[in-house]
Amino acid sequence: MEMIEEVVIVGAGIAGLATAVALKRVGVPVLVLERWPELRITGAALALYSNAWFALEALGVAHKLLPFYVPTQKGRITNVVNGTVKEVSYSGIEGRNGPIVVHRRKLLESLAEELSPGTIRYCSKLMSIQSHRTPEGSYIAILKLEDNTIIKAKVLIGCDGVHSVVAQWLGLMSPVPSGRSGVRGLSVFPQGHGFSQSLHQFVKPGLRGGFVPINDKDLYWFLFYNSEFIGNEIPGDPMMIQKEVMENLAKDFPPKYLEVVKHSDLPALTCAALVLRCPWDLLWKNLSRGNITMAGDAMHPMTPDLGQGGCSALEDAVVLGRHIGNSFLQNGGIVPEKVAGALKEYIGERKWRVSGLITKSYLSGWAQQGGSGWLMKIIRDIIFFKLLYKIVFDSIYYDCGKLPTISSPNGSKKLCKTD
Ligand SMILES: Cc1cc2nc3c(=O)[nH]c(=O)nc-3n(C[C@H](O)[C@H](O)[C@H](O)COP(=O)(O)OP(=O)(O)OC[C@H]3O[C@@H](n4cnc5c(N)ncnc54)[C@H](O)[C@@H]3O)c2cc1C
Repeated sequence: MEMIEEVVIVGAGIAGLATAVALKRVGVPVLVLERWPELRITGAALALYSNAWFALEALGVAHKLLPFYVPTQKGRITNVVNGTVKEVSYSGIEGRNGPIVVHRRKLLESLAEELSPGTIRYCSKLMSIQSHRTPEGSYIAILKLEDNTIIKAKVLIGCDGVHSVVAQWLGLMSPVPSGRSGVRGLSVFPQGHGFSQSLHQFVKPGLRGGFVPINDKDLYWFLFYNSEFIGNEIPGDPMMIQKEVMENLAKDFPPKYLEVVKHSDLPALTCAALVLRCPWDLLWKNLSRGNITMAGDAMHPMTPDLGQGGCSALEDAVVLGRHIGNSFLQNGGIVPEKVAGALKEYIGERKWRVSGLITKSYLSGWAQQGGSGWLMKIIRDIIFFKLLYKIVFDSIYYDCGKLPTISSPNGSKKLCKTD
């Protein structure tokens, strides 16, 4: 089977769905390819910071989520070794909200239901890519799927996650291990959990765990640990992961943390090695070639220490939607020679922002989860918490702008405002 499409997005995760919504809103027809037979919900929940809400607002999706969730304005970080407690504020300057933790399923479904039926093609695993030069001098991407379908696309956007086929095709190096792994879970207390709306964190050298209410009954919990403890990923099923956390890794964490872990919804429990893309790979390499580029984890996998992987994927979607949308509206359709320039502009706008987030996330994890020596204490308690913490969190308060709006009073499409 052979198909010809305007824009193909590979991957129906946060980046792929949000990009598809952005493009639909500016009138660009898209096809999303997803390898699995349904939306893949890994990771239970995620914290969305101000930058994600600006993006969701631009995508017209924020109003579907906000009534169900509340911001987390405060955090408590307990040092498990000496019992000291540090209070932190996530709200920054007046008017800013702290992170809002949402069910991952709810986010993905809210995005997916914005798309027209048939936009997502499931069971469609991308296997290989070729770029073909047309006699007119423009490029067309030729995609081969696992089921032998061939798709020709004027634009290809890889939103295919950490092990991206598109990133590999663009010549990026594989993401590097951070030396740490992360467990994520969702805990359900049918009678109510009774915890305050704060991010409760517990740290000791090499370990950082925490939990935060999603609503009155559900809590999101996590544990990041240095891989040297037990290797990259805990082998076995979710029950094994839960056992390993409770009986080994976090055994000396306070009973309330263990109680939360005990109430885990087992199918939602996951463990993964934490990887990142070296920031210089993003700054030096070509992140778009002709009519092919990437967004989300495919482009910039980062450690989750600032909760920015999904948030920055939403920013990507709006910025990409804006550049492709402008090109589409100005040229009356997808014109391959023009759209290559739009993708370059997108990369120009994104690469410094995301390489900064990768760096800040990594350093923040390293500082918070480092050892107990005197130097590490100075770095963590004085340099990180007293001097850098506010600067790092303020950089998350970022508005990626809006999508071009289309007005059609007389049936014609018109570019109104871009940002
Ligand atoms: C422990 C942990 C905690 C985190 N916490 C947060 C948080 O609080 N806040 C936050 O913003 N972020 C957080 N993140 C990061 C966030 O989960 C990711 O950045 C985000 O999910 C990336 O979305 P994505 O769409 O780019 O990639 P994915 O979610 O990986 O989606 C990729 C999609 O592409 C599909 N796919 C892959 N290959 C192919 C192929 N060849 N053909 C077709 N389809 C394919 C996959 O099936 C999948 O559906 C966390 C990450 C971890 C590990």
